[in-house]
This record gives sequence, C-alpha cells and structure tokens, in this order.
Amino acid sequence: MSQYSQGKIVKVAGPLVVAQGMRDANMFDVVRVGREKLIGEIIEMRGDNASVQVYEETAGIGKGDEVVSTGAPLSVELAPGLLQNIFDGIQRPLETLRAKTGSNISRGVEVNSLDHEKKWDFVATAKVGDHVVAGDFLGTVQETVLITQKIMVPNGVEGDIVSIQSGSYTIVDTIATVRTADGKTVDVTMLQKWPVRRQRPYREKLAPDKPMISGQRVIDSVFPIVRGGTAAVPGPFGSGKTVIQHQLAKWSDVDIVVYIGCGERGNEMTDVLREFPELKDPKSGESLMCRTVLIANTSDMPVAAREASIYTGITIAEYFRDMGYSVAIMADSTSRWAEALREMSGRLEEMPGEEGYPAYLTSRLAQFYERAGRVRCLGSDENREGTLTAIGAVSPAGGDNSDPVVQATLRIVKVFWGLNSDLAYKRHFPAISWLDSYSLYLDVVGEWMNANVDEEWSNHHEEMMRLLQEEAELEEIVKLVGYDSLSAPDRLTLEASRSIREDFLQQNSFDEVDTYTSLKKQTLMLKMVLAFNHKAKDALSSGVKIETILSLDVRERIARAKYTSEDQFEQYYKDTLAEIDSIFAELQSKEAEA
Ligand code: ADP
Ligand code: MG
Repeated sequence: MSQYSQGKIVKVAGPLVVAQGMRDANMFDVVRVGREKLIGEIIEMRGDNASVQVYEETAGIGKGDEVVSTGAPLSVELAPGLLQNIFDGIQRPLETLRAKTGSNISRGVEVNSLDHEKKWDFVATAKVGDHVVAGDFLGTVQETVLITQKIMVPNGVEGDIVSIQSGSYTIVDTIATVRTADGKTVDVTMLQKWPVRRQRPYREKLAPDKPMISGQRVIDSVFPIVRGGTAAVPGPFGSGKTVIQHQLAKWSDVDIVVYIGCGERGNEMTDVLREFPELKDPKSGESLMCRTVLIANTSDMPVAAREASIYTGITIAEYFRDMGYSVAIMADSTSRWAEALREMSGRLEEMPGEEGYPAYLTSRLAQFYERAGRVRCLGSDENREGTLTAIGAVSPAGGDNSDPVVQATLRIVKVFWGLNSDLAYKRHFPAISWLDSYSLYLDVVGEWMNANVDEEWSNHHEEMMRLLQEEAELEEIVKLVGYDSLSAPDRLTLEASRSIREDFLQQNSFDEVDTYTSLKKQTLMLKMVLAFNHKAKDALSSGVKIETILSLDVRERIARAKYTSEDQFEQYYKDTLAEIDSIFAELQSKEAEA
C-alpha cells in the first residue's frame, strides 16, 4: 500500500472533490488538495476514484489539480494544552490560526493542534523498573488550576520502564522509555494521536449509577440524567436549546466539559467565548474555562468540518475519561451536523432516505452517542472509572418532532428533554415539556436520591408528576365546562400544579441566584410546595373554603424561594414550613369554633 497516493481532480462539487489515480489510498485517509494543500478526508472509494470531503473553502480548486493522500486517518492530538483552548471542527486552534493568518482564516495553513513548543512541568509518578500497560499513569501535568492531566502509556505499548524523569518538557519530548517484551525500546512522549472516528478503548462498560447534577431543577428533579448517560434536547428556534446547553456546560458537576458549537450562528459561540472565561466554578471559584474545551464550527465555517466536529469533540472527551474523570460533551446542534451529512451524501449522489438524509443517518448518530458511558478504564488499576455524558441539541424544521434527526436520536438516547414552543412563548423557561419528556434513568437516579439526598425523593417525584398529569386532565374539563364547575379539591389540584410549574419548574438562567439550585435546595423547594398542598387538603376537608386557601400570603413566600440564596435557604425553608403550619392550624381551629 502506498503511503502517499497521488491523484488528479476530475470533479469539484462544492465541498466535495473527486480525484482519479487514488487506487492505493484508504477510506478516511486525510488528503491535501490542490496547490493550496487544502485539508480533506476520503469519504468514498470507487475503484481508482476517491471522493474527498474538503474541510476548507474549495473556491479556485479545479480539474487537474493534485490530490495527495497523507496515509493517515483524521486524528486529534491529545496532550496538555487541550483545556481552555478553542478549536475548529478538525482541531485547528482558532487563536493560533488567527495569529498566523489574520481574522480571515486563509486556507491550507499548516498548524499543530496543540503547542509543540510550550514546556510543561511533568511530575513522574511511575519509576524505572515498573511494568506498565496501556492506560497506566506515567506522571502528571498540572494543566490548569482545576485539572491535572494524567500522562498515560499510549495504546499498544507494554513493558518495563527503563527511564523516566520529572522535569520541564514539551509534549513531543521523550518523558519515558519503555522496553517491550521483544526487547525493543519505545520512547514515550506526552502527545498521543488518535483517529477521531474510532472510539478509544476501555476495559468494560458499566451501568450508570449516579446522577449528573446540573443545578437545573426540571432536569435534576424531574427528568434526570446520569453520569455516562445520553440526552437530546429537541426544540424549535428560540425555545431555549442553546441556553440549556450553556447551563449544562456551566453548572454540571463534572470534571471536564467539551462544548461543540456545531453549525449554529457565530454570535452564539461569541456568547460562549465572552461569558465562559468570566464564569466561576462554584466549587473552586476558578474560571470555568479551566475545565473546558471549546470546538467552534459555526454556520459561517466550512460545512464538511462540521461533520467531523462531533467526532473530534468526543475523542477529546474520551481521552479525559480515560484518566478517570467525569466528562460531559454538548453538541449544539446535531441537526446542523446532520445537514452537513446530508449535503455530502447528496454530492456523492447516494440514494436519499427520508427528507434527503442518507440511510446511514441513524448509525452515524449512534457512533457518536455510543461513545458515551460509564467505563472501567484501561490500565493496571482495575478501579479507575471514567464517565462520558453526551447531550445533543436537535433543531427540527418548524419544531416538528417527526423530523428524521429527532426520530433517529430518540432511538438512541435515554433522556428526552422536549422543548415546547407554547411554553417558550409564555416565557415558561426552561421550556421542557413535563408531559412529553422522559428520562429512562429515573429508577437508578431515584434509588441514588433516596439513599443520598432524601428518602422521600421518589415519592415526592411521583406526587409532582401525578399533580401535573391531573392538571392536564382538569384543563380539558375546564375547556368544556368552565372553571366554575370544578370541585374545591380539583381547584386545589390546579393550585398545586400551578405552584409546581411557576415556583419550581420555571427557572431563570439569567438571575444570579436562580441560575443554579443545589440538589438540597431543589428538594426543599419541592417539599415546600407539596407541604402547602397537603395542609390545604386537610383544611379543605375540615371545611375551610378554597377561596380562603387561594388567598393565603404564604404562597408568595413559596414563590420567592427560588430567589433566596443557598446559604440562607435552610432557614427560609424552616420559617416557611412553620408559617404554613401555623396558618393552617389557625384556619382549622377557626373552622372548628364556627
Ligand atoms: P434556541 O437555541 O432553541 O434557538 P435559545 O437557547 O437561544 O433558543 O433561547 C432563546 C431565548 O429564550 C433566550 O435568548 C432567552 O431570552 C430565552 N430563554 C431560554 N431559556 C431561558 C431560561 N432558562 N431562562 C430565561 N430565559 C430563557
Ligand atoms: Mg440555539
């Protein structure tokens, strides 16, 4: 097999180029196209012809231009320098590109993904004589104030360490030498390369066992996600997909976040770039960027790189998972990614499936989401576990969930946060519909919550969902016969569900206090709402009028709970419950006297 197969362009169709004389090249090889050496990837081989998706603007490229295969698949660089960085869809560092070429990124620029000159303080944790296998830690680099990168033995290397030393190294310097079983020595650097379309190996997949806490009440307390889980956020334009993804990126209690801005407008990415560095990690007070990797492939950037961006992102995420970290990846939006896939498929003149998407849409989506999970990592330490949680926004045309991308996604993911345009229109945010959404992790999360947060968690969850369901049924009746025909207990049910919606589910991302709610506070908030309902029910049955209950001022206290800061909340909760108790005791004793 020739390493550097070389051919000539016979056809150019937008981002797709067909080259002849490529018989010896491999599917998914990276190629250089034309005099400017644009970066591309072979996505189809037919005899002597290779179809290449080009990651850069193809204007000016024409028939007869040269295409040269590099003999290697599209890969990412994995080493210190990933965090706080911003890459494009094929892991080119945007800042470095800009510095090299100005704001109009010129084409064919040769640039390393990571800085090969910067020196890092490597602290060896393994020693000469140690027998090591792939995944074992050789040492550490304090990459940011928040995150220590573990430098791992790369895949395919096993043997005894013959030299290793702490010190100041670049990522391409040798930090250790390993003698393998056949007597050869292998020089190990901090830099690993990994092909993006291949998942990184692990020992075994484990069942998820813990929630990933986001501080968003309708997520954590209603439709929870687990560490290592998968979720989709479908919704029409303006329903809050991006805000939810940002909230998850900011507040999720994971070690590392990989955020992919995929085909959405550039200004949304600008928001991220401006906002994230200023945000502080709630645990450490450090900038959230210290644990974040950003991948930007906005709508104004070449479409083919968008197709690659989600694999680039998830490979980086897997690398941190392999160190034993909990990682979350967000992609906004997978619909824009699917459109890129559709465009390339159309150019290849493949048989179109539903709405022009290729038949392999589902399998490609699965190849992304299946890389999420909780795993036992490679390496000698059997107890090292890592998790990778994947959350994708989906933006179907017109918000119609029968859309092929939504349907394909829902066959794969375990959590569905369905955004509803009516809710968004009424400014009920997050506009996650409580009637359509679901989490298939509810059982495992319920068990964990009952054991770790509140033994009544599952019961309260059930009660909340029942009240919301009853409200939907009662609303149908109200439409037919009017509110006045409802019984007092039914009116109280409507009041309880209103309170759940407004006082609990609605959460303002832009309010300093409300933007994040701890699990403990979430639980107490819901308890407050339910406690009022229980007391009110008792009062009703001892003869207190529904009108009296609906005019109680303590309802206002429950409504203000979300704006009460975490450190004052326990007291606020106690005071509110005491007030509820005393008010209802008074009402009932009055009723008894009468
Ligand atoms: P999408 O990505 O679905 O098009 P966005 O996430 O950009 O929608 O949200 C549109 C607008 O809705 C936001 O600019 C904001 O005004 C409002 N919004 C969405 N979610 C919230 C929230 N949780 N709190 C307050 N406002 C919100
Ligand atoms: Mg958006």
